Amino acid sequence: MSRRRFSNAAVATRLARLADLLEIEGANAFRVRAYRGAAETIEAHPEAIADLLARGGDLTGLKGVGKDLAAAIAALFEGGEIPALREATARVPAGLLDVVRVPGVGPKRTATLWRELGVTSLDDLDRAARAGRVAGLAGFGEKTQAKVLAGVAQVRRHGGRSRLGDAEAALAPLLRSVRAAPGVERVEVAGSLRRGRATVGDVDLLAVAERPAAAMAALREHPDVAEVLGSGDTKTSVRLEGDLQVDLRVVPAASFGAAWQYFTGSKAHNVALRQRAVDRGLRLSEYGLFRGGEGDHPERGERLAGADEEGVYRALGLAWIPPELREDRGEIAAAAEGRLPRLLEASDVRGDLHLHSDWSDGTASIRAMRAACAERGYAYLAITDHSQALRMTGGLDPAKLARQWAEFDEIAAEDAAHPDGGGRPRLLRGLEVDVLKDGRLDLDDEWLARLDLVVVSVHSHLDLPEAQQTERVVRALQHPEVNVLGHPTGRLLGSREGMALDLDAVFEAAAAHGVAVECNASSQRLDLGDVELMRAVAAGCRVVIDTDAHAPAGLDDMRYGVATARRAWLGRAQVVNTWAPDRLLAFLAKDPSTAAG
Ligand SMILES: [Zn+2]
Ligand SMILES: [Zn+2]
Repeated sequence: MSRRRFSNAAVATRLARLADLLEIEGANAFRVRAYRGAAETIEAHPEAIADLLARGGDLTGLKGVGKDLAAAIAALFEGGEIPALREATARVPAGLLDVVRVPGVGPKRTATLWRELGVTSLDDLDRAARAGRVAGLAGFGEKTQAKVLAGVAQVRRHGGRSRLGDAEAALAPLLRSVRAAPGVERVEVAGSLRRGRATVGDVDLLAVAERPAAAMAALREHPDVAEVLGSGDTKTSVRLEGDLQVDLRVVPAASFGAAWQYFTGSKAHNVALRQRAVDRGLRLSEYGLFRGGEGDHPERGERLAGADEEGVYRALGLAWIPPELREDRGEIAAAAEGRLPRLLEASDVRGDLHLHSDWSDGTASIRAMRAACAERGYAYLAITDHSQALRMTGGLDPAKLARQWAEFDEIAAEDAAHPDGGGRPRLLRGLEVDVLKDGRLDLDDEWLARLDLVVVSVHSHLDLPEAQQTERVVRALQHPEVNVLGHPTGRLLGSREGMALDLDAVFEAAAAHGVAVECNASSQRLDLGDVELMRAVAAGCRVVIDTDAHAPAGLDDMRYGVATARRAWLGRAQVVNTWAPDRLLAFLAKDPSTAAG
């Protein structure tokens, strides 16, 4: 049997799944914990387990990996599967792995639902909860039943979708391999990933290749592929570890642009575009833009465009439309009338105004975070560690804040001693101040007044009723020292819905008080999202795109925030961290000249 090269993530996914299955079965808690612990160790291990095994390394040297676990992992590399996982999969219905993901359920309750009610899928759970049978189970009750129902809907909404950042990371190594395959001229990403959506379904790749078979083989045989769903002359579909599906199509160069346009979508944009073609007596398909042809065969007509996207749009009387705008939200009319916005570019961003250091729950020093910002060519940054209410993060009380400021002073002195002032990004003293349950801030006014920048964020009591939550946030925004509303809805992509909040009231207050609303660019959040950003700007708000990075690598998430802002039609004018330092400082000082018109 051929040895397969599994990535560490692929090994970890399998061990974690095994832990879930065993826990649902009610297996020994130590055994469950052992698998879960090993999954974490392997996921975080810097060397590929495949390499470690290849050089005869001993897996039991890894933290939490005993003899049995080492044998299970070795079996995976030898035979392509973990025997215990195969057996558990045979015993436990696969649908329970969806049930276990429902917020508020977890493995123990999943076991109860299975045993007592025969629930083996999300549909079963939905039916049982609607019939009121879940509330009657020991340890559940009415409240849990309502939570379960909402949770089922949530899992369904996010079902089968990956976060933008996860999809991009999973795709990168595949893209490299396919691009390097012999005879491949070009490979491009299409679909919702190209449009920069916060979550993406399947990933579509399009290629031009002299030898399509080599491109197909490069994808099929990639070590991160868990399953080949289908593979032919011009199309291959695979499923990756972590369930992302990737489709690769090889198309002729003459129709590449039309195919790229078609597979980029969105569906609504394409419907509108096709209608525009029909109105002009033309036909648009993934093969090109045609005049004439017959029935289902437009390609027998005269091809007007197809090799590149610009040509397709041009032949329809349109400027090329950036993919992020292709949602049928007025972009076709704007392109026809020559009034597409000049969208924000990654290179427009001049600083990051929501960053954590090792003074709270970040992993890097202030100096290291600043050096990372300097590498990115930023003109400024704000360190905004947590305030005291978030004790588990090492949040800063006034005494600790004073110590942190001493370090800021040291750094300022170093800069002053430097001939050119250090040439380093300007360092702003900020704090991410918790909004307390009643809307007061987690720091006294005299301290707030001494900060360069105050981000306010809600981290607790996320489940207040809408009216109370709105009042709380609006009260915080009314505080004269507040500059930024951090991750305004509190959503976590794929795992937590946003708070119940009257966003219109929040945006109105933010605009009135000169507070910028954040597009938190962390790929876990993307909060605000594109639609909410459009509403905020329409309400007169300024926007700030922050990564909320807790380590230097987190700064790279900026591109997801930029993509989200582009989807909201934003340019430099609305985004305060694209502004020159003086204008930004005027905004932070609430200078009325910086308010939106
Ligand atoms: Zn936060
Ligand atoms: Zn933060």
